[in-house]
Amino acid sequence: MKPESATGGCHCGAVRFVARFPSRFVAHCHCESCRRAHSAAFVTWAGFPSAQVEVTEGRDVLMVHESSQGTSRMFCGECGTKLFFSSERWPGETHVPLAAFEGPVDRVPQGHAFWDEHAAWLPPLAAPPG
Ligand SMILES: [Zn+2]
Ligand SMILES: [Zn+2]
Repeated sequence: MKPESATGGCHCGAVRFVARFPSRFVAHCHCESCRRAHSAAFVTWAGFPSAQVEVTEGRDVLMVHESSQGTSRMFCGECGTKLFFSSERWPGETHVPLAAFEGPVDRVPQGHAFWDEHAAWLPPLAAPPG
């Protein structure tokens, strides 16, 4: 039987979540906002209908950074790990970094978003955007 969900959490373990499949997408986001918010070359997101993502531990330590108007990035107040993205641009969706999961989700990354904003210093990709 295929798994019906995947669990994950922040670096320190205070925040734990479960995301139920099916996901809507998994994609690498190269937008400047994600890169800066996560201090990363890019962020690989798994998108879910919000009702399918449940915080199972540490709800009280979650904090919110509004990275632009209508866009919220939730993070662990103990260790700072960014966990949940939601935006009026994608109503009803919660995006979760694939790296926050312990195991695989129901699909592999499908592509690259905002490639035109990618970091100039990004090394060549094994599978460049097609
Ligand atoms: Zn934490
Ligand atoms: Zn982004």
